[in-house]
Amino acid sequence: MDLSEPNARLRPMTDLPCDLARDIAACTLCHARFTATATAHAPRPVVWFRPGARLLIAGQAPGMRVHLSGRPFDDPSGDRLRDWLGLSRDEFYDRDRVAIVPMAFCFPGYDAKGADLPPPPVCARTWHGQVMDRLGRIGLRILVGGHAHRWHLGSRAPVTQTVADWRARAPGVFPLPHPSWRNTAWLRKNPWFAAEVLPALRAAVRRVMDDRPDPA
Ligand code: SF4
Repeated sequence: MDLSEPNARLRPMTDLPCDLARDIAACTLCHARFTATATAHAPRPVVWFRPGARLLIAGQAPGMRVHLSGRPFDDPSGDRLRDWLGLSRDEFYDRDRVAIVPMAFCFPGYDAKGADLPPPPVCARTWHGQVMDRLGRIGLRILVGGHAHRWHLGSRAPVTQTVADWRARAPGVFPLPHPSWRNTAWLRKNPWFAAEVLPALRAAVRRVMDDRPDPA
């Protein structure tokens, strides 16, 4: 597949719910930046939200698999995240209830070691606030990884510390580590995450998915 093809030729931009989503899907602000990476790919924003969704998943940026499929978290990281949240694939991809809004909508490319580059800051500067305004009545924000922690919490604390402080923000906000396989050692080293955070997270997700109020 020629990754330098314009996005519209590979994946027609259908089913986009509003003018803002269509504007993001057509964005090419990072064209020069991506062309300079090893994959020399064209911008291909993965846009997955509808105004009115109650649960926000603020992620980092698509990886290569998602870049090709056009579906967010359609990869092993997504399988682990769905397990953490207690959501089936059908629920996770129900845009009437779940908005998936990363800190960059496009795959950023790889660094010299083959790891994904960080999300280009211009994306969050340009789009993230606009999407948050458009979403409106979010009942639960799930912040996946340090970039989302920084934008939503204004915190520059290390990810482990931010996640460990989860009780200070629950049940309306849960900062999480990234569910990538690269964090498997982190999960082993921090068993409190599975033992304490995940049960509370799943209960909060279920309440919002079922549109029930938080307990007093
Ligand atoms: S990453 Fe964001 S700002 Fe850059 S081209 Fe994609 S949508 Fe545009």
